[in-house]
Amino acid sequence: MSKLKSKKGNHTSKVAIVGAGFVGSTAAYALLIDGSASEIALIDVNREKAEGEAMDLQHGLQFKPNVKISFGSSYELCKDAEIIVICAGAHQKPGETRIDLISRNSAIFKEMIPQIVKHNSDCILLVVANPLDILTYLTLKYSKFPKSRVFGSGTILDTARFRYMLGEYFEVSPNSVHAYIMGEHGDSSFPAWSTANIAGVNLKHFKKYSRKAMDKLFLKTKNAAYEVIAKKGATYYAIGLGISKIVNSILSDQNEVLALSSYLTNYYGVSDVCLSVPAIVNRQGIKEQILMPLNSLEKKQLRKSASTIKGNLRKCKNC
Ligand code: NAD
Repeated sequence: MSKLKSKKGNHTSKVAIVGAGFVGSTAAYALLIDGSASEIALIDVNREKAEGEAMDLQHGLQFKPNVKISFGSSYELCKDAEIIVICAGAHQKPGETRIDLISRNSAIFKEMIPQIVKHNSDCILLVVANPLDILTYLTLKYSKFPKSRVFGSGTILDTARFRYMLGEYFEVSPNSVHAYIMGEHGDSSFPAWSTANIAGVNLKHFKKYSRKAMDKLFLKTKNAAYEVIAKKGATYYAIGLGISKIVNSILSDQNEVLALSSYLTNYYGVSDVCLSVPAIVNRQGIKEQILMPLNSLEKKQLRKSASTIKGNLRKCKNC
């Protein structure tokens, strides 16, 4: 029985976060508030940065006790973690796409993943750094872990942005909107309009529905990261909450459905690539990918995402 299975039901769960920058440290903060981890280890090549972030979190332990905060620059800290969240690497500068980060971040992953795995071969690897789908694929390759235990935060953030905007438009809570952004966590992502609904009722049946308004909302969703980065330099609060949600779903073993990037094998003919589709997640990792009833346009869009990722992987010198 794997370590993950044997610990089911209790709350002694260590989460290691590699990369204590904007995203990693915000995820640590969200995790501290959530309370599902028993230990949060912050690891960064910049030890001072990891220490500073850890100190700031430790000073809040009076208000959120029962969590141990550790830090350092050694991957040895990944030992005994149930989940390792990988936020290390360069982030987009204003005007840069996620794919533009490929050579810098794939070089980091090539060196980093085998070192992490040396200290922990029995955990879930959750990739957050960009380009997300490419780095998830490379993490799977370099770790040699089973496919169920390597996945990326994928379009959980894009989906959250989309639900927020749809919720605003239809005047319902984003929680009551069931709509997914699928494919690449990047410019070729697409909305699964054919299944988007509120309370089981397809969006088309609502009075306020208009094709033009929906297209505008998706465009806003797709460009949201660029807009936030142009205004404040980086995005981190929403993804921090998204990471905390994924970690909580894994540790609480709830079989929750989330839009995550995982390895696809014959998903409408799409294979050997990591892309986001709704997936059931539990303490073992990805339990099952849900085959969405996509229409022909959506299947075409999924194939386009796959060829974008595969084309960039082929061109990548470090991969
Ligand atoms: P950042 O520059 O603030 O932080 C990155 C950190 O990684 C730095 O502290 C750096 O020292 C550290 N680092 C670099 N190489 C390392 C290594 N080998 N081992 C350990 N630490 C290392 O960047 P950020 O804003 O926190 O973004 C991190 C990544 O997350 C970027 O690739 C960004 O594009 C991505 N991101 C993803 C999403 C998503 O939805 N998946 C959202 C926002 C940002």
